[in-house]
Amino acid sequence: MGVSGPRVSIALACFVSACGARYVAHETASPELEGVSYEVRLDEALERAWVSACFSGVPPTKLVAPPEAVELLADVYGADGESLPFGESIDLRRTNVGECVSWEVDLERATWGREALRRGGDVLIVPGILLWRPEGAPVRSSVRFELPSGMYVSAPWTRGGVEHELPADALTTPGNLAFLWRAPRRFVERGVEVELARLDGEMAVSDAAIERWIRAAVRAVDTFGEGFPHPRVHVVVVPAGPGWRPVAFGLVRRGGGPSVMLLPHGTASEEALTRDWTAVHELSHLAMPRMYEEDRWITEGLATYFQEVLRARAGLISREEAWEAIVRGLDRGRAVGTGRTLWREARDMGRTGAYRRVYWSGALWALEADVGLRRRGRSLDGLIAQRRSVLTEREVWRGRECLAALDRELPAPLLLPLAERYGDLRGFPEAGPLLRQLGVAERDGVVGFDDGAPLARVREAIMTPR
Ligand SMILES: [Zn+2]
Repeated sequence: MGVSGPRVSIALACFVSACGARYVAHETASPELEGVSYEVRLDEALERAWVSACFSGVPPTKLVAPPEAVELLADVYGADGESLPFGESIDLRRTNVGECVSWEVDLERATWGREALRRGGDVLIVPGILLWRPEGAPVRSSVRFELPSGMYVSAPWTRGGVEHELPADALTTPGNLAFLWRAPRRFVERGVEVELARLDGEMAVSDAAIERWIRAAVRAVDTFGEGFPHPRVHVVVVPAGPGWRPVAFGLVRRGGGPSVMLLPHGTASEEALTRDWTAVHELSHLAMPRMYEEDRWITEGLATYFQEVLRARAGLISREEAWEAIVRGLDRGRAVGTGRTLWREARDMGRTGAYRRVYWSGALWALEADVGLRRRGRSLDGLIAQRRSVLTEREVWRGRECLAALDRELPAPLLLPLAERYGDLRGFPEAGPLLRQLGVAERDGVVGFDDGAPLARVREAIMTPR
């Protein structure tokens, strides 16, 4: 089934806004509620979902969901079939111990917006659209799917079968949940368990080639620090119709476990997909914590820097191509910007469109940080990997606190002072002196190397796998 350009961009614009985290009010758990068991039944056309929730312990007073779920909720029923009041939340004050509630979700309308992507008979949604949750801290939850014969479900927390335990953040943090008619592929690459859900849509390459593309990206990210940052990853491939670039868009989601959505163009060859930066960029985000919106120049800068470095380390592109991509990326970043400080530019880039300034200013910060660390006998990915146990203590970090936590491993702070300098800039940071020291030189429009440069060995070490 073909997909038109404008429709894709509407869906993408909406998905993009889900990238950054916002502050959430602190919620407290109802002490008497012990757990929730969901059952989900779907029709073949994926137009309607019937969901029931049974509670162990005292039922909560209300169920909540992401804002986009509210208008899809068609009806809510109590234990004896009577309608229950609902709006922004589902009111359970009349629900007694031992009773279950059920509701209908109008999935047909969950399309082309932020809440769903549809391809042919398949759909990708955020689980919270179906699974309204008790307000407050997460409780132990499980879900059982009753699917039409031949349909599959795929999420970071599915392992085949019909009954699934939900990780604590599966409903509080946006995640990926796919219903599809093609069996998800499960494979192990570099010790990483991968579940790959490929949605319907025309692709010039076979499913086996898509699997090889994802395997190559996992191998590249395995060269980060001590190796791939998670034992398991979920990947959703959503064909994006024809286009001149290999991949239209990618997005990482972490609710319920790491999950990456990739939208390759149907016209892309296997070689173009494997050499493309998007999958490596998204997967490398998983090596680093989530941050708030004004700090996204740091997280995107890191992923933009490492998309080039890790591909070169894994041999997906040459070192020359990697440095060339960095030089060209810096040129593109320098060409845009609104004169805001980098912190504000990062916060506002959804409105201003100054993505390249934000991403590539951040990438230059990451390069300068990596060079600084390597001159002290360390490396940026090595340091981030070494501090993983600290970085995973929080779900979302403020950039300054995260960098301070990394700096504590060093004899003297490096990452945060450098970030303060970059973050306050209203223009694009100066790249020339650093590149010259590294021996990355551009002559007549061609990027080449000067092996007599003072930091030529650092330049080589950056692109060399451990
Ligand atoms: Zn990114």
